[in-house]
Amino acid sequence: MGNKQSHWLDSKKHFGGQKPGLALVKWLNDPPTSPKFVEDLLSHAQLVSQGLAEYPSLHQLNVARKKKKLAPEFWDSYQKVNEMLATFTYAPQIDLHDFYDGERVSLTLVTEQPIALYSVQVRWVLQLIEQRAILKIRRCEECESWFFAQFAHRKFRKTSCQIKHFAGSEKFKEKRRIRAKNPPEFAQLAETLRSQLRSAGIKARGFPSCINYGIEVDGDFITLLSVSATNMWFPLPQRAVRALGDERFVACKQKINNVVAFYRPEDVSEPTKTNTLGPRFGALDGKVEAFVEAVTEIAETVRGAVTEAS
Ligand SMILES: [Zn+2]
Repeated sequence: MGNKQSHWLDSKKHFGGQKPGLALVKWLNDPPTSPKFVEDLLSHAQLVSQGLAEYPSLHQLNVARKKKKLAPEFWDSYQKVNEMLATFTYAPQIDLHDFYDGERVSLTLVTEQPIALYSVQVRWVLQLIEQRAILKIRRCEECESWFFAQFAHRKFRKTSCQIKHFAGSEKFKEKRRIRAKNPPEFAQLAETLRSQLRSAGIKARGFPSCINYGIEVDGDFITLLSVSATNMWFPLPQRAVRALGDERFVACKQKINNVVAFYRPEDVSEPTKTNTLGPRFGALDGKVEAFVEAVTEIAETVRGAVTEAS
């Protein structure tokens, strides 16, 4: 125990802030007016809360302040949050003394007549501070929509956002790996290949060491082309080879070999030979379009064969 996360997940606190949290998130995701004031208030309040969470007492906070350990942003936000809140008739304030006395938000009467445009949203923010749940209001790292994080480690609004995010970062890593391991002109060919395959509707599946391109038939992924950081293969799975039958399999091999040699010349017309060579990206020079066209045609042949076999 003792770390912030387990403390946060402690007993009842786990459900703290759910009501104002969900209401605020819903409003932020579809605000009828500009959400700027509320978003600013939220971000300043979060920065202050984060700072305060690190120091369990005012004394410790003051020690940190003297040692200049507190970030200047903390004081900026502390001031901003109170300035913003001061625009209300009963101005709620976060006062350091009151805060550590257990009153996380205190009310001060201000005499000027304020324009309380966002009174409901501000009340939610204040309730979240009181219920120690202000840091649970987050933006999804993938789609940037707001959500209420029930668990401390949640960074995405939905599981689908998480999947999308990691698929994206896998593709990015792959791109970087290809750039690192190839001459620039080969890397460029690999990138052109990738984008043309995508526009041709060929699906991609990322793996730690390669990306497989292929088609989905009845929920099954059939790989046609496998691409590593340096080489390409044409590893038609047995299921597809069987469905195609000798004649069509040989025709597919011929079609791809006419553009890039994936099969040894003596193996092309031999239906039992399924081993594929691993040419480098340079083999695509001046041929990316023809290659993608061949892959697309083979994809359709395989789709038809597998569908009719199942
Ligand atoms: Zn999302």
